[in-house]
Amino acid sequence: MQRTLSIIKPDGVKKNIIGEIISRFEKNGLRIAAIKKVFLSKEDAKRFYIVHKERPFYDSLTDFMSEGPIIVMVLEGEDAIIKNRDIMGATNPANALPGTIRRDFAQDVERNIVHGSDSPETAKTEIAFFFSELEIL
Ligand code: UDP
Ligand code: MG
Repeated sequence: MQRTLSIIKPDGVKKNIIGEIISRFEKNGLRIAAIKKVFLSKEDAKRFYIVHKERPFYDSLTDFMSEGPIIVMVLEGEDAIIKNRDIMGATNPANALPGTIRRDFAQDVERNIVHGSDSPETAKTEIAFFFSELEIL
C-alpha cells in the first residue's frame, strides 16, 4: 500500500469535473483516504512549489494555483504514486496519452488540471503540507 498527494487545480474545479476526476481514480483501484477543498494564497502556493523556485514558470504557476479553490486528496493503493501519474498523463497535454486526465481536459502545460506526487519522499512531504495523520483514514 502506498499513498500519494493528488490536487485538482483551480482550472479543474472551475470546469466542474471534480467527480469525473475522482471517478477515474476509483475505477483504477485508488481509494480516497482524505479529501478537502482549500484556497491557497500566493504565499501558500510558493511554499508548496518551492522545488520549482528557480524555474521560469514559478511566478505564473503560483499565480494560477492561487486563483481559485483546489481539491486536495490523499490517494491510497498499490503503486499509488505511479498509478496516479499514469492516470494524469504527461505534464504537457500535447504529449499526454489518449484517455488521460490531462489529454482529455488540460488547456496547456501550465493549466493542466491535476497535480500528483512524483516519488515516495515528495508524497510524504506533500501529504504533510495539507493533512495531519488524524485526517487520513
Ligand atoms: N509547468 C509549467 N510550465 C512548464 C512545466 C511545468 O507551467 O514548462 C507547471 C505545470 O502546471 C506543472 C507544474 O508546473 O504541472 C509542476 O511542474 P512539474 O514539472 O513538476 O510537472 P508535473 O509533476 O505536475 O507533471
Ligand atoms: Mg511535479
